[in-house]
Amino acid sequence: VENWLIAAAIPIFMLAIAIELLINRSRGDTKYRFEDTVTNLSCGVGQQVTSLYLKVILIGLYVWLYNHVRIYTISISSVLSWVVLVLAVDCLYYWFHRASHRINWIWATHVVHHQSEEYNLSVALRQSWLQGVASILFYLPLAILGFSPKAFVLVSTLNTLYQFWIHTRSIKRLGMFEWVFNTPSHHRVHHGVNRKYLDKNYAGMLIIWDRLFGTFEPETEEPAYGIVKPLRSYNPWWANVHYWVDLWKMFVQASGFIEKISVWFLPPDRKPASLGGQVVIPEITRDSQELYLPQSPQGARAYAAVQGSLAIGSTLALLVLPWKIPAWLHVGWVLWILLTLAVLGAFFERKPWVWWVEPIRVLAALGLVSWPLLHHNHAWWATGLITLFAISTIPLLAKMRQRWSPTRTLVGFHEPLFWT
Ligand SMILES: [Zn+2]
Ligand SMILES: [Zn+2]
Repeated sequence: VENWLIAAAIPIFMLAIAIELLINRSRGDTKYRFEDTVTNLSCGVGQQVTSLYLKVILIGLYVWLYNHVRIYTISISSVLSWVVLVLAVDCLYYWFHRASHRINWIWATHVVHHQSEEYNLSVALRQSWLQGVASILFYLPLAILGFSPKAFVLVSTLNTLYQFWIHTRSIKRLGMFEWVFNTPSHHRVHHGVNRKYLDKNYAGMLIIWDRLFGTFEPETEEPAYGIVKPLRSYNPWWANVHYWVDLWKMFVQASGFIEKISVWFLPPDRKPASLGGQVVIPEITRDSQELYLPQSPQGARAYAAVQGSLAIGSTLALLVLPWKIPAWLHVGWVLWILLTLAVLGAFFERKPWVWWVEPIRVLAALGLVSWPLLHHNHAWWATGLITLFAISTIPLLAKMRQRWSPTRTLVGFHEPLFWT
């Protein structure tokens, strides 16, 4: 059910993003930057495909506990039990979210969501690929209490979907609604890097938890968005691992067993004593923030838009696939999508390796879609896909010819690698 919910939500989200983008443009306001938006969507796509596997393990854990250790069996036919479950999931989300900002290893799984320096609906889809590993730990008590896995998955999916619309600068304040519910204004504060906004407004659906547990902060000035130590990359893979790399380096450098262990559990603003202890947090405002703004030529953007759309289409197909495909094809497809995401980032960052990897990715795609072509049942859409894909790579092939022509000399990173 939840896969269908998400699959149904994706086109709606895309439409909402398109509408917000058009509204912004008509106001002469640029709150969507192309590369930033694609990276946000890439993180979301990567999260969806990796969770096809990860979910099996994490939900499996919940199901196992429910089957073997539950204390009660809570009826899902009573309205009261649903109300309790909605409140419980939201409250546990608050504590998970609070922990994810104050405990290094969980922050490593959550940081992805905060890296964008813009604030728009596409940021909502900027999701970490590993966050589920941490969040499920907070929800397991519900299994032990006896809330059925189906009810839990449904309610927690709805909780996540609720949080989509609050990622916008287009909605200012909402009157009395702000007292109880999490709103764009409250959540803008949560994404702020201004010192007064750090570690505030952890709410999912209801802001009451922040008011209750002392982490509420009203929006008094427009926040500067992002993270204290900027990511400065468009690569969704790097977005997901950079903080793990930071932690690993600290782990290696820290002296002694206790310090090395503490690295994983300290808050992000503290280091082990031998590495300096308290970290000085800079005061960042919208005026002082240095944004990461590399831009790509129009041609590269068009190519990225087509390839990114194909990746989103493939992801949708994988989510709701009504027919059986062999395991190797499923894994291959997921890896191909993840590779596509890396290549998009590499295009934006003008990484030279993209010229080696991209032909391999194109060939791999043809290999993947040739399977259904050979297994006649779905030949019509496979033929369509191959045609579409082949057409989409024509500009690439043209560019490749130019790139590898013997009369060109390579001058390194700053050469115009793209469709200029
Ligand atoms: Zn957060
Ligand atoms: Zn958010």
